[in-house]
Amino acid sequence: MTPLPTDRFKADRPMPKPGILDIVAYKPGKATAEGIAHPIKLSANENILGSSPKAQAAYAEAAGKLNLYPDPRTTILREGIAAQYGLEPERLLFGCGSDEVFQLLCQTYLEPGDNMVQPEHGFAAWAIGARACGAEIRNAPEKDLHVNVDALLAQVDERTRLVFVANPANPTGTWIPFSEIRRLHEALPPSVVLVLDGAYAEFQTGEGEREDFELARHERNIAVTRTFSKIYGLAALRVGWAYLPAEMTAAIDRIRLPFNVNIPAQLAAVAALGDEDFRQRSIDLVETWRPWMTQQLSGLGLDVAPSAANFVLAGFPTTPGKTAVEAEAFLASRGYLTRGVGNYGLPNHLRITIGLEEHNRAVVDGLAAFMGRAGA
Ligand SMILES: *Cc1c(COP(=O)(O)O)cnc(C)c1O
Repeated sequence: MTPLPTDRFKADRPMPKPGILDIVAYKPGKATAEGIAHPIKLSANENILGSSPKAQAAYAEAAGKLNLYPDPRTTILREGIAAQYGLEPERLLFGCGSDEVFQLLCQTYLEPGDNMVQPEHGFAAWAIGARACGAEIRNAPEKDLHVNVDALLAQVDERTRLVFVANPANPTGTWIPFSEIRRLHEALPPSVVLVLDGAYAEFQTGEGEREDFELARHERNIAVTRTFSKIYGLAALRVGWAYLPAEMTAAIDRIRLPFNVNIPAQLAAVAALGDEDFRQRSIDLVETWRPWMTQQLSGLGLDVAPSAANFVLAGFPTTPGKTAVEAEAFLASRGYLTRGVGNYGLPNHLRITIGLEEHNRAVVDGLAAFMGRAGA
């Protein structure tokens, strides 16, 4: 039971506000494996190709400017993004990763008693931000690991302030047609913010049109987010951004920490925008190996969700010896780190980031050995 405010006053030590201790801290993908000096990390959907050499050069050059506070308006990056994507600069919001953008949205729109609606396998960072504001999380059932618009809408009531959807989604990798996103938006009250998390947008190639910026441009309640962490391979620098109505940006800017995107990050991100070659190579790698991984893992009898992201989600049997938990440990013992997703309500699945050819082949070989273990 959460203590009442009077209890907090009388407590013999500082008590976190109600709800904080109910939050499960974000669990990042594993980075180490016992007894393995340099495991291959396929557990956090990072870019296996590294990052653009241009971004790295810009980052190194920033070493001479570490004494200066960053530009609080993120002007160089703001102008770079606006030009690249054809967006109005004053409608952009930058964050320490898109994670901070999600938090800022929650802090600005959620108060205790409000609720946030998300698909049942929604990205963990959203709910952490919402819970910290005292909001209720409403999980909408998915259908075959796909976001279900009707189920989302069924959860919406007069206390709903935010609806989060990632397309393609994480950890499932699945996507829904943009017509479904439009249908969701049309049915939402205009007071509800629809957050369209596009962390994997660039990897959704050749699978239907995506018009999130076009749709958002004419609406007053849509926030479209993107990140430099995945396609651009700059996860370490923590740069995410959103395109929102100017009045939403202006509201959020009142509480945003002024220097939330540092100078090396801003410079590297701008340089990354200008490296079309790296971007294309990142997409090509995923386009080459995602279907192969899907086919190979399915061939082993695993249940692979159709992915439009830079990873695949594989469902394992529940037979002892062949479970997802055991598969994760087996691959780790061979030096390959993958992501168990039990905390996403998917205890029988493993999420595997697309790697280089040798990694992908090693994972398939490893899982073939795992699934074929006699009497296991
Ligand atoms: C990786 C990821 C992000 C990106 O988070 P950053 O804070 O920008 O690194 C956002 N949403 C989803 C669904 C993700 O998987």
